[in-house]
Amino acid sequence: MSNDNRYDVIIIGTGAGGGTLAYHLAPSGQRILILERGDYVPREKANWDPKVVNVDAHYNTKEAWLDKDGNVLHPHTNYNVGGNTKFYGAALFRLRERDFGELHHHGGISPAWPINYSDLEPYYMQAENLYQVHGERGEDPTEPPASAPYPWPAVSHEPRIQQLADDFAAGGLNPFHVPVGVMLDEKNPYKSRCIRCNTCDGFPCLVSAKADAQVLCVDEAVKYPNVTLLTNSLVKRLETDASGFEVKSVVVERNGNEERFNGNLVVVSCGAINSAALLLRSANEQHPHGLANSSDVVGRHYMGHTNSVLMAISKCPNPTVFQKTLGVNDFYFGSNDWPYPMGHISFVGKLDAVTLRAGAPAIAPNFTLEMMAKHSLDFWLTSEDLPDPENRVTIDRHGKIVLTYTPNNLEAHERLQAKLKQALRHHNCPVHGHDCHEGLFGRNLYVGQRIPLAGVAHQNGTIRFGHDPKTSVLDVNCKAHDLENLYVVDGSFFPSSAAVNPALTIMANALRVGDHILERLGASVEERVGVGSAS
Ligand SMILES: Cc1cc2nc3c(=O)[nH]c(=O)nc-3n(C[C@H](O)[C@H](O)[C@H](O)COP(=O)(O)OP(=O)(O)OC[C@H]3O[C@@H](n4cnc5c(N)ncnc54)[C@H](O)[C@@H]3O)c2cc1C
Ligand code: SF4
Repeated sequence: MSNDNRYDVIIIGTGAGGGTLAYHLAPSGQRILILERGDYVPREKANWDPKVVNVDAHYNTKEAWLDKDGNVLHPHTNYNVGGNTKFYGAALFRLRERDFGELHHHGGISPAWPINYSDLEPYYMQAENLYQVHGERGEDPTEPPASAPYPWPAVSHEPRIQQLADDFAAGGLNPFHVPVGVMLDEKNPYKSRCIRCNTCDGFPCLVSAKADAQVLCVDEAVKYPNVTLLTNSLVKRLETDASGFEVKSVVVERNGNEERFNGNLVVVSCGAINSAALLLRSANEQHPHGLANSSDVVGRHYMGHTNSVLMAISKCPNPTVFQKTLGVNDFYFGSNDWPYPMGHISFVGKLDAVTLRAGAPAIAPNFTLEMMAKHSLDFWLTSEDLPDPENRVTIDRHGKIVLTYTPNNLEAHERLQAKLKQALRHHNCPVHGHDCHEGLFGRNLYVGQRIPLAGVAHQNGTIRFGHDPKTSVLDVNCKAHDLENLYVVDGSFFPSSAAVNPALTIMANALRVGDHILERLGASVEERVGVGSAS
């Protein structure tokens, strides 16, 4: 093999994990290859078209997976530069400090992480700066300690959401501003890159103002001459050397051909499901159950959160444009009447009639779908699902992904929904009083693909890190216990899923692992600063 195919580091995947790591390593001068199966998301008017994005699922992968009964799943996931961060709602939360310890849930135990919150705190800070998080410390009662304020002020509530925040506060709750990664400058609206639109959560940003891994990380990384990005490059498997302790070659399908690349270090970051699938597909003589899988843990403990979208219909309209500004964590760890964690309440982007028509929610009496869309407050509820070894990713004999999942800890979510319903009774509408609120209506989240399991947006846990090689795949540095040069930096490493959105934790961990990799490569911070041409 020619030296052209040899790199110091190969990173597979450009999402929250891989993209962030590439950004961090780029100024080191090390020879870095980034492999991404998808292409850039095209910039086109359709980026902001709810029918194209939500109904036609135009940008989603067309890949078909299977559930445990052999039914076809069309996963709600995206293969492109920037990974799922191109489409995410950019709500960028830190896990709570207690999420790193063992927590007793109604449905069982949420296990402790092998690192503490304090180990990740400096990297959360870096990640918040890198992803331009807009927030306000001190409002959320469950917020962990932070070493500095958010880099940007919180995104303001629009009047209808402010009214709701005031009502929640009057009812004894502690509503807070959701930390979001959008490049909004409310003080200088004429200069602001973000225009505060209604097509953000679930949509790519047409004006490149969302803090996603392509715009902020990959585009910056490839400015360095030592960094190469190959798109449309699907990694099929990893091959080891004769000893079985090192990944020797990364086998890639590109332009219809098979190519091999060598990396001194290989970092897998394909998203929790595809990373597990890649390791399982890479089984060989030394690793008969899949690469790095002497523990038989690869692919197990799949988690994706118990999520629901609940529309609270009011007699008053909700003309909000950018709705994802308010959160409530008062029930995150429990309440006076229930001692177990319930989860997190916030918002999705404002739902519209086109999206609702395809999603077929239960209809409120006397309302059409258009009216419902105009009058709804569209809540997003997340509860923790627990790591069950039987909830897992496997590969069938044709190489297809099989996702086996039985929901757990469901009472937590039902209780969270009931808490929201109760909180809305305090709704003090100046026109209709308490009668303003007409009820809560569930919306089928995955329009056009009505199998809830297909909703894999928060996938995590399939390649967990830990101290014990018998019960975990990765060590605390996210290096495989079984191999000398294999790392994983996407959402796979989570030993528990907590109940806030996962992306900031994936980004912060990628920066943490990045520091370890730089140390291992002998690339000092001084060497990193000023090398290359990124500005
Ligand atoms: C609609 C939506 C809204 C969301 N909103 C939020 C939110 O508000 N806040 C939040 O924290 N999280 C949110 N998420 C989740 C968030 O986007 C993910 O947690 C995060 O992107 C996961 O990062 P990752 O690095 O694990 O994987 P990904 O970002 O999925 O990146 C994986 C990358 O690997 C590539 N890849 C896969 N297989 C291969 C292969 N074999 N060869 C080469 N490349 C490969 C993929 O194309 C992709 O680019 C949302 C997700 C979606 C879909
Ligand atoms: S709200 Fe801002 S960041 Fe989000 S899609 Fe619109 S312009 Fe882009």
